[in-house]
Amino acid sequence: MNIGILGSAGRMGQMLVREVARTDGAALSGGADRAGHPLIGQDIATLAGLNTSGVVLGADAYAVIAASDVVIDFTHASVAPGHATLCAAHKTPIVIGTTGIDAAGTAAIEKAAKDIPIVWASNYAVGVNVLFAMTRRLAGVLGEDFDIEIVEMHHRHKVDAPSGTALTLGEMAAAGRGRKLADIAQRGRDGLTGERRKGDIGFAALRGGEVVGDHTVMFASDHERLELTHKASSREVFARGAVRAALWVATQKPGRYSMADVLGFTD
Ligand code: NAD
Repeated sequence: MNIGILGSAGRMGQMLVREVARTDGAALSGGADRAGHPLIGQDIATLAGLNTSGVVLGADAYAVIAASDVVIDFTHASVAPGHATLCAAHKTPIVIGTTGIDAAGTAAIEKAAKDIPIVWASNYAVGVNVLFAMTRRLAGVLGEDFDIEIVEMHHRHKVDAPSGTALTLGEMAAAGRGRKLADIAQRGRDGLTGERRKGDIGFAALRGGEVVGDHTVMFASDHERLELTHKASSREVFARGAVRAALWVATQKPGRYSMADVLGFTD
């Protein structure tokens, strides 16, 4: 399977290059980053700390898409939907890990998913996907006497907040209660906020150091508190899941899939 990496000079991109190189049945077919990136023209494998591969970092996403059986995108919210559109034009399946994508970008990805299979997940770690399912279940079981707060912490370089994973956890909790997250999300408190509204789902985003990704879902009632926590200790866990998704998505029918589909579990 020829796999191309979009954003291959980035933190996740370099991890993905290493993961593809060590995966049986997978080969690197290309890597692209933004035009003007200082590393354009260098070997993508040596950038990732591996032996030379002969595959050079370019700035042409379409060339990578055309050379690949499937591509993996960990770039930026402003460009990932356009990459999905290009993939649809070339009938190349895509795995998207980029977070912070707005409603217009989401609509573009859903349009592309009519022509190609797309896996789009805010988090490719197996443990987090179990946490998604548990959060939906517990939110339904515990009911609105338990306030739900979602706390996440990430490294200082992260550009979006709350994290995509925190928002998915919020969607799962809202779904467990038969609600829509947009109607009950409290995404930032500051100043005279008034009392907490019953049924709201609160978010807090912490940033600092090189934290890979910590998420806690808190269920707090008058008398007890239940907390579920996931901590990623290495980006490798996301790369491993994304490459697994790439091998899986290449044989699927057009449509939008989640990591739960890739892992084959339903709650
Ligand atoms: P990063 O900034 O280190 O890497 C992003 C790369 O994309 C950079 O090298 C940047 O130059 C490149 N890029 C920007 N515009 C581009 C374009 N037009 N074409 C090609 N490349 C372009 O960021 P990162 O930490 O690697 O994270 C990337 C994204 O992945 C973020 O949205 C992050 O939240 C998300 N992420 C998702 C998961 C998951 O499991 N889904 C895990 C980690 C990170």
